[in-house]
Amino acid sequence: MLVTKLKDKDTVRSLIAGKAFIINCHGCKEVGFPEKEADEFQKELAAEGKVTGVLTMDYICNPDNIALNLGLRKNEIDEADCVLVFSCGVGVQTVSSQLEDKRVYAACDTYAVPGGQGVTPLEFDCRQCGECYLNLTGGICPLTACSKGLVNGQCGGAKDGKCEVDPDMECGWERIQRRLAMVGRLDALRSPVQIRDYNNEVKAE
Ligand code: SF4
Ligand code: SF4
Repeated sequence: MLVTKLKDKDTVRSLIAGKAFIINCHGCKEVGFPEKEADEFQKELAAEGKVTGVLTMDYICNPDNIALNLGLRKNEIDEADCVLVFSCGVGVQTVSSQLEDKRVYAACDTYAVPGGQGVTPLEFDCRQCGECYLNLTGGICPLTACSKGLVNGQCGGAKDGKCEVDPDMECGWERIQRRLAMVGRLDALRSPVQIRDYNNEVKAE
């Protein structure tokens, strides 16, 4: 079980330069999702004229499923300057990988809940760190795409684009830099990364 919580509304608003296309992931029984708050916030954004469309579906972490649905909503996505995803970190990364030339932002933070958790083989991984960095890293998770889980940039050990810890994998931070360059957000690398507040962990009930 894991839980998603909305990020601070003003923080999310500050990410939307013009209009956003919104994606909600419902239906995953593994994730506690703040449906009511998300719905209210999305209505506020729509009333402010900041929404081109809303897609609500199950399992956006299924690449074929999301690819099909993104294709069906292409016009509304093209009209938006960014895509705002209300899901756990895996969902945001899946959408981001499918819309490489689009700014894709996480509207939620993902927290682990101690106890049992299902195991689903997925292309992307989220460590449920409670302070999602994807908005600073182009939708690529630095905790799972970098062998050392660095959140402040590259360690300097990569050779020919490969990780110094695991030469079979691409350096996650080189991927992050390429992706930020692709969406015109290299400035994000200058943003100071907040030290994580480990008190944010959600306690088991
Ligand atoms: S930064 Fe990575 S581990 Fe943390 S919530 Fe986001 S996707 Fe999950
Ligand atoms: S080489 Fe890249 S992926 Fe590997 S530990 Fe260093 S920064 Fe992380």
